[in-house]
Amino acid sequence: MALKQFKAESKRLLDLMINSIYTHREIFLRELISNASDAIDKLYYRTLQDGDTGLSRDDFAIEIVRDEKERILIIRDNGCGMTKDELENNLGVIAKSGSLNFKSENEQKEDIDIIGQFGVGFYSAFMVSDCVTVRSRAYGAEEAYEWKSKGAEGYSIAACEKADHGTEVILKIKPDTEEEHYSEFLETYRLKNIVKKYSDYIRYPIKMDVEKSRLKEGSKDEYETYTETEVLNSMVPLWRKNRSEITEEEYNQFYQEKFHDYQKPQKVIHSSTEGTATYNALLFIPSKAPMDFYTRDYEKGLQLYSNGVMIMEKCPDLLPDYFSFVRGLVDSQDLSLNISREMLQHDRQLKIIAGRLEKKIKSELESMLQNEREEYEKFFRNYGLQLKYGVYMDYGMHRDVLQDLLLFYSSSEKKLVTLKEYVGRMKEDQKAIYYACGESVERIEQLPQTELLKDKGLEMLYLTDNVDEFALRMLMNYDGKEFKNISTDDLGLETEEEKETAKKQVEENKELLGFLKDALDGKVKEVVLSQRLKSHPVCLSTEGGISLEMEKVLNAMPTEEKVKAQRVLEINANHPVFQTLTALHGKDDEKLKAYANLLYSQALLMEGLQVEDPVAFSNQICELMVE
Ligand code: ADP
Repeated sequence: MALKQFKAESKRLLDLMINSIYTHREIFLRELISNASDAIDKLYYRTLQDGDTGLSRDDFAIEIVRDEKERILIIRDNGCGMTKDELENNLGVIAKSGSLNFKSENEQKEDIDIIGQFGVGFYSAFMVSDCVTVRSRAYGAEEAYEWKSKGAEGYSIAACEKADHGTEVILKIKPDTEEEHYSEFLETYRLKNIVKKYSDYIRYPIKMDVEKSRLKEGSKDEYETYTETEVLNSMVPLWRKNRSEITEEEYNQFYQEKFHDYQKPQKVIHSSTEGTATYNALLFIPSKAPMDFYTRDYEKGLQLYSNGVMIMEKCPDLLPDYFSFVRGLVDSQDLSLNISREMLQHDRQLKIIAGRLEKKIKSELESMLQNEREEYEKFFRNYGLQLKYGVYMDYGMHRDVLQDLLLFYSSSEKKLVTLKEYVGRMKEDQKAIYYACGESVERIEQLPQTELLKDKGLEMLYLTDNVDEFALRMLMNYDGKEFKNISTDDLGLETEEEKETAKKQVEENKELLGFLKDALDGKVKEVVLSQRLKSHPVCLSTEGGISLEMEKVLNAMPTEEKVKAQRVLEINANHPVFQTLTALHGKDDEKLKAYANLLYSQALLMEGLQVEDPVAFSNQICELMVE
């Protein structure tokens, strides 16, 4: 019979497996057992839904069978089995091959990391075996099929005899070499150990015949050997165990295997509750946000178990969007197995559980913030954006949950601070929380508007993410303190005396300001004398609800309508440039007009905005230089 070829990526992975110097060869057993367990889960779930199938939970088991002489190891299950097509489709290609992004052709080391990262399931069998046979009969099917492969050259599929439904994976264990002792994978002690180590919580018995010896009946010193079938695993799922019985290592291993992460989780949250809702939850915060976390492709959700049987791979209703980074599972006896996705959405019990989980996650984060600041900052760098979106979304409905979890960069502390910390440090007469926006801390630091506040010793929050200002506007205030954008809002920092002087100055320069506004020809709504500038001659501010930063963000979105902030050009009356303007007024109006445009362009540049006509701007400067 002609051999079929593996798909390209599968072939590469196979090569890797066969030639791997991977030290954890033993994981092949974990992978095959976990496939067997999944297959039983599927069938068990189906029988529970279909009602009377004659199958009961006690009928299900996974068996390990050995023939040491023939170097054969068999992993057998009585799960759902596979049809011919399924054999072809599931074993001919790698299920999640999309995530296997092979970078370097030759670098063995990198390849090995890939194995560690993803867990490659079935293919790992080729690490210990040079001929793998899979015999399977789908539940309810009449015929069985045999898939066979000796590795990279390809595989064959043919009909075969098999009495019961389910699958058996038959491994011909590789011969021992000088470096490699493959025989260990046929030894009782070693196999027992591997099962205990990786598959202890598998919920179906993993059975193996074990040779034992005993005194012969009636004899005092003569022994005889006999075989006894042992169950190798304790079958208690990790999440049902007592927290005190579980080591950090076990949690980490569980997480990494189950969620295919090569890094340990940053945080483990294990909680059990009884009462209005009885459930066990085992939640993890990944120590790095997945690549697609901030894209539409990312799907939030927790695995949902009903009394130990998985009923949904990703249940989105268990997590609010702002905690979508949490992974894990919930097991509850209060949920019906027959529940459909649609019904689940309206399930009262599920809502209660989701509410509890939200509270739990929040309190864990708060305690991390209080007790492990560095860890929290690391967490925030990963997921802070999501929390800030959370404040903004749904019209600020969740701001109370989230406001104390936010961090912003502080001008005076030079690090991330909470709103609570900011308010706790506020001066006695300080009424507002001040913030400034820009693309980076360095850029904001240079904004002319920051000078005045620094001079007065006022702390500012530097907002560098697009969503920041939107989130603060949604909060409206914190602890009764308003938020004020130092570039646009009325800061109310002047003394009575300063206010008087300002009023007079405006009166005196009314005409000049009017002239400048006209000179700018509709580019600004107003030209005013600034209360916020110290050493710089000009800056831009805005009137109305949309700041310059918001204009940038909103216009970057793919919407038809563009918004425009109402710009105000602020001039520093105490700057020498202002004297020049006054002197020109009424004498050389052409020049004054040109200067107005120059100043406006400068203000745009400082805000990180584009000059409307860069060539004209450059020409004007050249003219000045020539003068
Ligand atoms: P994964 O388990 O990560 O999906 P595998 O390569 O281990 O990847 O398995 C590929 C697919 O083959 C599985 O998703 C499953 O559909 C099928 N499969 C593997 N082993 C069994 C088995 N013992 N019984 C039924 N189906 C199986």
